[in-house]
Amino acid sequence: MILPIPIQKMIDAFSRLPGIGPKTASRLTFFLLNAPEEVAGDLADALHELKAGTVDCPICYNVTSAGRAECEICASPERDPGVVCVVEEPLDVLAMERTGGFQGRYHVLRGALSPIEGVGPEDLTIRELTQRVKAGGIRELILATNPSMEGDATAMYIQQQLSNVEVKVTRLARGLPIGGDLEYADQTTLLRALMGRQEMV
Ligand SMILES: [Zn+2]
Repeated sequence: MILPIPIQKMIDAFSRLPGIGPKTASRLTFFLLNAPEEVAGDLADALHELKAGTVDCPICYNVTSAGRAECEICASPERDPGVVCVVEEPLDVLAMERTGGFQGRYHVLRGALSPIEGVGPEDLTIRELTQRVKAGGIRELILATNPSMEGDATAMYIQQQLSNVEVKVTRLARGLPIGGDLEYADQTTLLRALMGRQEMV
């Protein structure tokens, strides 16, 4: 069956999204085609605003609303600037916030070291992190990268980079599902891993 180009383009665009195969992409496309005008319109508006309406926080690299000088957490006087939790992705910040057990601030690496996928230190915000620590005022750095090979390697690399700096470096306790993402860990497990964090030596 030869599909009209706009339909094929939509299917191709959906197919590039994580977790969406060709069948789901086709189903979504035909759903939108047959749905009331405003359903597709709202989606188009949301897609446009997603990029245009957000920026990276220049301090922690979490995502925030465009026009803000810094994100809500970096700007909050109620959050302890002396304790910084280092995570891979903005979604991990959400996971940590859901535990309700963390009152410090964050640093989002924007990924993890992965030689196989060609991700090196310069692709992440590691230099920005070490500069932030060297600037002073941070007592503890909690390395909350994922419990995976990449996450562990990233944590060790950061620890090495900071070996000459006066700061306590801790790692989340074991017990999180190995190889899994922080964002999929349940709140209780993540909170327990946070409370049981241990100094890296
Ligand atoms: Zn921030």
